[in-house]
Amino acid sequence: MTKPESDRQYSPGKPGQSDASRIWTDLDLDAEGRQFGYFRLNISTDGRGAALIPIPVASFKNRTGPSVLLLAGVHGDEYEGQVMLMKLIRTLDIANVRGQMIILPGANPPAVMAGKRTSPLDGGNLNRMFPGHPKGSPTEEIACLISTVLLPRVEYLLDFHSGDESRFIIPSAQVYHNEDPDKLDRLVHMMAVFGMPKSTILKGLIDHDKKVISACDRLGVLRFATELGGGGGITPDVLRQAEEGLGRLLFDLGVLRNPVTKKPAPPTEFVQRLPNRQYIYAMASGIFEPYVKIGEEVTAGQDAGAIHFPEVPWHAPWIAKFEESGTVYAVRTRARTEMGDNLFILSVPWNR
Ligand SMILES: [Zn+2]
Repeated sequence: MTKPESDRQYSPGKPGQSDASRIWTDLDLDAEGRQFGYFRLNISTDGRGAALIPIPVASFKNRTGPSVLLLAGVHGDEYEGQVMLMKLIRTLDIANVRGQMIILPGANPPAVMAGKRTSPLDGGNLNRMFPGHPKGSPTEEIACLISTVLLPRVEYLLDFHSGDESRFIIPSAQVYHNEDPDKLDRLVHMMAVFGMPKSTILKGLIDHDKKVISACDRLGVLRFATELGGGGGITPDVLRQAEEGLGRLLFDLGVLRNPVTKKPAPPTEFVQRLPNRQYIYAMASGIFEPYVKIGEEVTAGQDAGAIHFPEVPWHAPWIAKFEESGTVYAVRTRARTEMGDNLFILSVPWNR
């Protein structure tokens, strides 16, 4: 009998076990040195009867030291992180690595190739499908690969996001509040080292248990994330800041032997993002005119923007109002707007 392909799986479960990831790879994640290749996700769809989705992965392993998983392209329409990790793969010197870095610059390839937040294969938003399922949809299978194969191998997850195609988010590092004061200190330190203009502590957001953070919390993995602008494109100075921050952070974590940048971290301001119930949503459909810009200070009661009605141009627009005072943390950049769309998110100073 020939050996089943599943023998190549890396999984805490036994290959072939029903709870083990079916995604396989030729890479040996335990091997020393630099490896490039793919995780292979089997699909069987119209016109692609026995096909696979290749998920690019690089492993840099040099003896013992910290282990770090770097993800971008969890959302396919967020580009800064994808570019940053592709550049890291091409420039990282294995001799300068201590421990291991596993890098997936396009974690959900169907979404990445389509330039969409979600996968065209199953409509899946990878960061709403954790812990995933080995027998689920393609996006659930990728979530399962991350939570059962990759995260158990590492101490840190660096997860690069930006505003999606329709929103610009203030260029920032981001972590979730942690009840353990030592871990929270560590996360705050990581953001200070990364040195974006703002550093955000998230608390009280919905769907926590569907996100990768829930898998990290269960495994004791520290998750550091970003919001690097976005809006469907790349802002050059934001990308440069993030690349320098990443170099500083990798050295600070101890996974680089020598620093790759001499630039000290610029000062950062610690903020907290107001939770979902306090977002400003469109309560009309039409053309959105924002009245304020990203980073602007606003006060409760202030007009935030207007939704105009092109079918009835003589009709007065619907006016959105800020209900709290704070800083504009995210702004919708796409004008066409449906009722229920998120227009603004505010941040306020962080109080621990
Ligand atoms: Zn994202």
